[in-house]
Amino acid sequence: MAQNKNINVEKRVSSKDTVFNISDDYQGEKYTVEDSQRVLLNIPDNYNAEKKYADDTQRALLNILDDYAAEKINMENTQRAVLNILEDYADEKKKVEIANNDLASANKELEQFAYVASHDLQEPLRTISNFALLLEEKYLGKADEEMEQYLKFIVGAASKMQNLIKGLLDFSRIGRNISFATIDCNHLLKEVIENLGASIEESNANITTSVLPVVMGNEIELKQLFQNLLSNSIKFRKKNTAPEISIAVEEKNMNYIFSIQDNGIGIEKKYREKIFIIFQRLHNASEYSGTGIGLATCKKIVALHNGKIWVESKLGEGSTFHFTIPKENFK
Ligand code: ADP
Repeated sequence: MAQNKNINVEKRVSSKDTVFNISDDYQGEKYTVEDSQRVLLNIPDNYNAEKKYADDTQRALLNILDDYAAEKINMENTQRAVLNILEDYADEKKKVEIANNDLASANKELEQFAYVASHDLQEPLRTISNFALLLEEKYLGKADEEMEQYLKFIVGAASKMQNLIKGLLDFSRIGRNISFATIDCNHLLKEVIENLGASIEESNANITTSVLPVVMGNEIELKQLFQNLLSNSIKFRKKNTAPEISIAVEEKNMNYIFSIQDNGIGIEKKYREKIFIIFQRLHNASEYSGTGIGLATCKKIVALHNGKIWVESKLGEGSTFHFTIPKENFK
């Protein structure tokens, strides 16, 4: 009996365990159910967020596509514009090349004409001048005053015309068969100053110069250039004032910039370009002698040396003529 009693106790204990287990399971299940419920409840939340995210992404993508299409149109337009510019540029370049060629051949023709005309005019002019001189000699003191006066006019005008024609001939010759060599401008200037010795002495001119470079150029023409500019600085001096002339050079980028500065009569602003045109003079021959060819010659020589020439001046306060010569110069 006692044994049965024990069995019952054991039975009772294991039932109790089962009850505990059931209750544990129940709790576990309850948590599981609650979790599932929570998950289910969360799904609609996440779904909305996901949907919104997908919508946003889609909108962003559509925007990107729109932007891309707009950018493509922009790029195509830009490309078309660039192509148009390139075509216009090519057209313009062609037009400029044609115009340049026309200008070059017109210039050549004109130079040829000036050369032939001045060359052929020299001979008859020499005849006129010689016979007028003969007449002057023959009738000097024998003819009436009026006739002597007329003869003087003829001789004077013929001689002036001879100078002009010689100047024109020299001008048209510049650049014919020009060849470049290495020129030491210091030596060149020394020779020019020696050539101008008489007028330097007569005017009491003082010339100072800085150290000049060695350039590539044509010796005869560069000499002519310095000589024309220096002789003008001496010629166009102020009355009762000795010429003070200084020659300098500075380097700028690919060029040497030469300057010839004087303390002479100066030039009005409005004439600064005009004076480089052939036969343009600002004074009559009785004030200052000359033909008006000197600066046109300088301009032509500088252009043949691939440079530029200009003047800075103030009336009554002297002038500075500048010209450039490239450091690397080729003919
Ligand atoms: P020309 O010396 O035979 O008159 P140019 O062509 O050399 O001719 O000069 C043209 C004009 O420029 C001159 O008549 C003069 O009026 C002016 N000119 C040139 N050089 C100077 C200078 N250094 N100072 C003032 N005027 C000048």
